[in-house]
Amino acid sequence: MSEQQFKMFCYQCVQTAKGQGCTVMGICGKNPTVARLQDFLIFGVKGVSAYLYHARELGYSDPEVNSILEEAVFTTLTNVNFNEKELFEYCLKIGEVNIKAMRLLKKAHIETYGEPEPTLVRTSAVKGRGIIVTGHSLKALDELLKQTEGTGIKVYTHSEMLPAHGYPKLRKYDHLAGNLGKAWYDQRQLFAKYPMTILATTNCALIPIEAYRNRMFTTGPVRLPGVKHISNYDYTEVIKKAEELPEVQEEEGKIVLWTGFSRSAILSQAKKIKELVNEGKIRRIFLIGGCDSPLREMEYFRELALKLPRDTIILTLACGKYRINDLDLGTVDGLPRLMDLGQCNDAIVAIDLLPELAKLLDLEVQELPLTMVLSWCEQKAVSILLSLLYLNVKNIYLAPRLPAWINEDILKTLKERYELKVVSNPESDLKEMLKSQQSS
Ligand code: SF4
Ligand code: SF4
Repeated sequence: MSEQQFKMFCYQCVQTAKGQGCTVMGICGKNPTVARLQDFLIFGVKGVSAYLYHARELGYSDPEVNSILEEAVFTTLTNVNFNEKELFEYCLKIGEVNIKAMRLLKKAHIETYGEPEPTLVRTSAVKGRGIIVTGHSLKALDELLKQTEGTGIKVYTHSEMLPAHGYPKLRKYDHLAGNLGKAWYDQRQLFAKYPMTILATTNCALIPIEAYRNRMFTTGPVRLPGVKHISNYDYTEVIKKAEELPEVQEEEGKIVLWTGFSRSAILSQAKKIKELVNEGKIRRIFLIGGCDSPLREMEYFRELALKLPRDTIILTLACGKYRINDLDLGTVDGLPRLMDLGQCNDAIVAIDLLPELAKLLDLEVQELPLTMVLSWCEQKAVSILLSLLYLNVKNIYLAPRLPAWINEDILKTLKERYELKVVSNPESDLKEMLKSQQSS
């Protein structure tokens, strides 16, 4: 289907064109921008649902948030809402609700596992049998750590589970041995390499290859073809399988990663940050993070980080951090130039830090010497983008490319209202980013 014909896609009701799909204009009268805004809304709702799921895993929920999600989904039914302006506002409402959902989850994590502390994490295997945990569920990891205690089995995190090492009640386990691999898409290569059991806890789980399918398990919402699913956090079978597998040999650990720069950890440096900014030793703060993806354009993150002048610091989060977190960027008078705030749901840490940093520096939030360069891959990143738009954050650099559902009309709004930019190349973007400091 050519681009000209494919202005929208909707096949949710019986009227759908030719019994196949409305692709130019809805038979119901829905225009392409309405259709695409409905998609935007649904993708945002999907993202929020992931945060709510994890909060509920720990016994936390918010009926008010749930009711807004209900209303948002309802508005996308056939013949309900044809108003572009209102649908865009609904998208922003999802951004608002997402902030509440992320705060709820952060509260659940902190009250259950303590607030993360800066922690150095090993990135190589230690001698012995092991289990690798991928995904995002701290609850699943915690249950596995309890059940493997005293068995001699080592537990490793993969990808977005790295920030788990910063939580006091998780890092207390000696057998939480380290973090293996990088972002989610290295799973096939990584899991084939280590003869360990694998537990996939959430989204960003790849369909396994034969090499490790019989030693992989899913839990929570994940289901993978040919892979045994475990319910109720009872990991007896996962542990039994790990005990049957050969030992892994000790690896040389060259790289260690820092994680666990929570809100309190950053604010404990408030006096220093203020001094460094006032003395001109920090001229700009960069937030570089988001969802990583295997696209070549994502090399942008590393190239940009390497080009940043030494009087800048970087806050990072989500699995996009793996593009840069092995870099030794040094410190500014002892303050690390690269600080990992955590998982994608820890975007709330960054969001809640903005007014605190502004207050510290006697500025308005919009005046902060801050540049956000955010990547997106799946729908949690969509809900975070909507949260930032709801907060009226401007000048976000989006990587690696524009979402496919954004048409000319929606892009025009995003550019005019939020000055949203898509990354181009690190040299020219950096010039603009540093220039915007002078005009702010
Ligand atoms: S809701 Fe409208 S656009 Fe969607 S399939 Fe039905 S008629 Fe087509
Ligand atoms: S940050 Fe995004 S892409 Fe990365 S593992 Fe989490 S949800 Fe997946």
